[in-house]
Amino acid sequence: MRAALYVSAGNVVVGEVPDASISAPTDAVVRVLRSCICGSDLWSYRGIVERAAGSRLGHEFIGVVEAIGAEVTTLRPGDLVVAPFQWSDNTCPACLDGIQTSCQNGGTFGAPGTDGGQGEAVRVPRADGTLVAVAEGTSGVQPSLYPALLATSDVMATGLHGAVLAGVSEGSTVAVIGDGAVGLCAVLGAVSVLGAERVILLSRHADRSAIGRSFGASEVIAERGEAGIAAVRELTGGLGVRHVVEAVGTKQSWEMAVGMARDGGSIGAVGVPHTAPELPLFQPFIHHLSINLGIAPVRRYLPDLMTRIMGGTLNPGPVFDASMGLEEVARGYAAMDSRTAIKVMLS
Ligand SMILES: [Zn+2]
Repeated sequence: MRAALYVSAGNVVVGEVPDASISAPTDAVVRVLRSCICGSDLWSYRGIVERAAGSRLGHEFIGVVEAIGAEVTTLRPGDLVVAPFQWSDNTCPACLDGIQTSCQNGGTFGAPGTDGGQGEAVRVPRADGTLVAVAEGTSGVQPSLYPALLATSDVMATGLHGAVLAGVSEGSTVAVIGDGAVGLCAVLGAVSVLGAERVILLSRHADRSAIGRSFGASEVIAERGEAGIAAVRELTGGLGVRHVVEAVGTKQSWEMAVGMARDGGSIGAVGVPHTAPELPLFQPFIHHLSINLGIAPVRRYLPDLMTRIMGGTLNPGPVFDASMGLEEVARGYAAMDSRTAIKVMLS
């Protein structure tokens, strides 16, 4: 079968790899319908984090179950499923705590020795605890819904998790730092899932802020740094905002998050801190800030998000502003690297 392979920084190709197959009785093989490129895939593409030459790429996909191992009980061949970006057993203590991304039997698609989502098929370990089937069945799902379902495999659930970590609830006022797919989905999650009343999006790209507004952002602030903090404070009567979602993971984004939070406020952080931003504790201490962070347990949110999408009340699909075939994956990476695409879907 064909799959995307990492060669070196800036160099991604599609090559021939062994067919995905069942190797443990708890496995399933999923034939991929759609996958996508993640902002986190760019860290190795840009040479910021190490990645082995020849390793498989991609951790977000939806597809159809092709085969199941002898111990798989909740799935059948033919089911249309969404995969979280990490697999989990959904039964261990961490999973029962709702942090399936800490599963003691978990792992990440595209890690060394595993199949990646950017390929024709994927071996899914711990299939019962990982995959969620669309209740309506394969024939009941229009392809027009594939982008929305695909978004739940990472960015929609991750954005929502940021808003949950920030303590967002009915009527909240929220600031979202970051206008990538995760930040935009944080806007959508805060408004459509959690009932936030007012969302201020920090964005200086017209295309991204337009999607943010369509997702429910009531105000967009283009300034960054101290000017961005001042703008948010001005919009909130000088107090600052009670809930901040940090969806970037850099030193500047953290300074902005701490700077614009109101005394007693909460920061929910889902921006991966690859650049190791330091968090000085004095300001959060003085201002009674709660700081919650972590890699999103997508599996926890999947059933609810899928039900909302199938019911027509949630559509994160617009975060995909480019779509191409798997064979064009190199062009997809280049488009995301140069920020000419927010998020690329692969067919
Ligand atoms: Zn577990």
